Amino acid sequence: MKDDAGGTPRDQERAYLDRLLAAGSWRRMNLPPAIEAAYQQYHYEVAVAHLRAYWPLVALAIVAVGGALFLLDLVPAPLRELVMTGVAIYFILAMGASVLARLSLGVDGIRWLLGLAATFGLLGMQLATVVVLATDDMGGIPQVGLVLVTVGVFSISNLLLRPALACVLTANLLFVLLVWRSEVPFEWPPFAMYSFGAALLGLIIGFSQEIRERTMFLQGRLLLLEKRATDLMADELAQLSRTDALTGLVNRRHFSEILQREWATALRDGEPLGLLFIDVDHFKAYNDRYGHPAGDACLQQVAAVLAIHAPRAADVMARFGGEEFVGLFPRTDADGLAVIAARIVAAVDALGIVHEGAPDRGRVTVSIGVAARPPAAGEHPDVLLQEADDALYAAKQAGRHRFMVAGR
Ligand code: GH3
Ligand code: MG
Ligand code: MG
Repeated sequence: MKDDAGGTPRDQERAYLDRLLAAGSWRRMNLPPAIEAAYQQYHYEVAVAHLRAYWPLVALAIVAVGGALFLLDLVPAPLRELVMTGVAIYFILAMGASVLARLSLGVDGIRWLLGLAATFGLLGMQLATVVVLATDDMGGIPQVGLVLVTVGVFSISNLLLRPALACVLTANLLFVLLVWRSEVPFEWPPFAMYSFGAALLGLIIGFSQEIRERTMFLQGRLLLLEKRATDLMADELAQLSRTDALTGLVNRRHFSEILQREWATALRDGEPLGLLFIDVDHFKAYNDRYGHPAGDACLQQVAAVLAIHAPRAADVMARFGGEEFVGLFPRTDADGLAVIAARIVAAVDALGIVHEGAPDRGRVTVSIGVAARPPAAGEHPDVLLQEADDALYAAKQAGRHRFMVAGR
C-alpha cells in the first residue's frame, strides 16, 4: 500500500481503495496481504453463516430430488441401490458440513471443510456417471448432474474462486486416476467435454460472483474509513469550538454552558459551587512596555499555571476574555477555594515574569475574586460570576496580588 500522498495509514488506505475501485475490476482479485486477509475473514464468516442457515435446506433438497427420482420412476431397477447410496452420501455431506460449521473452525478450517465437501461431492458425481453410463442409457441425467455439481462447487459451495478451482482440478485428477487404473470401459471424449465445459461455466460464474463480493467489501471498508475520518474531523472541530486559541483553556462560550450545567447540578444536590475570577494586574502597562506578542506569551504562561490548579475532572479553567480568567470548582466551599486561590496567587508570583511597568512589585501578578456557595432556586448562575467579580474588584482596591472572598 505504498502511497506518495503521505498522511496517516488510514488516509493512505483510503487513497489506495479509491484508486483500486476506480481501476479495472479484475485488479480486486489481488489485494495487498492485510486487506486480502480481512476480505477472506469477511467472506468465510458469511460462508459459515450460510452453511449454518442454508445447508440443512440443501440436505432437504437432496432428499427431495432423490425422492422425486424414485417417485417418477426415473431410476432403472439395477441402479436403485447406487442412486440411493449417492443421495445418502450427499445428504450426509451437506448435514455434516452444516453441523461442523457450528464449531469455531477459523478461516482455514472452514476452507478445508468446504474444500473437502466440494471435492468429494464432485468426485462422487463423476464416479456415478461411470457406473450409470456403463449400466443403462439414462437420457443424460448423469451428465446434467456432473455439470450442476461442478457449477455448484464454484458458486453455492461458498469457496473463493481459487480454492474452488483447486477442488475441481483435484476431483478430476482423482477421477481420471481411479477410472484409468480400474480399466472400466469408459468413453473419455464426452466426459472431457462435459467436465471442461462445466468447469469453464463455473469459473465464469465464480469469478463474477467473487468480483462483486470483493467490490462490496472494499466499498464497505472505504465507507467505514471515510466515516471515521469525518467523525475525527467533527471531533476536532467541536474541540476547537470549545477552546481558546491563545491559551488552550476552555473558551468563554463553552464556560457559560458548563456553568449552567454545574449550577443546575449543584442546585439539585444542595452542594456548593465555587468560582474564581482571576485578572492579571497592570496588564495594560505590560503590553505597552513589552509589546503585544510578549503580552500574549505572558498570558500563556499564566494560563499554564492556572490549568495546573484545576486538577479534578470536574474543575474547569477558562479564558473569560483579554487578561481575565475564570475557574469553576464543583462541590467546593469558600474555605477550600480560598486555599486554591492563595496557591494561584503564589504560583503566578513564582513565575517571576519581570514587569518593570508595575508600580509596586516589578513582577507579573494576579488578583482573584472568590465566590462559593450552594445556588438558590430561581437564581441565574451569572449572579455567582457577579459576586466573584465584585470580590475581584475589592482585591484590586486592596492593593492587588491577593484574593478576596465574596461576603467576607
Ligand atoms: P488592572 O491591574 O486593574 O487589572 O489593570 P490592567 O491594565 O490589567 O487592566 P485593563 O483592563 O486596563 O487592561 C487590560 C489590558 O489587557 C488591555 C489590553 O491591552 C490587554 N489585553 C487584552 N487582551 C489581550 C490579549 O489577548 N493579548 C494581549 N497581549 N493583551 C491583551
Ligand atoms: Mg481586566
Ligand atoms: Mg488586569
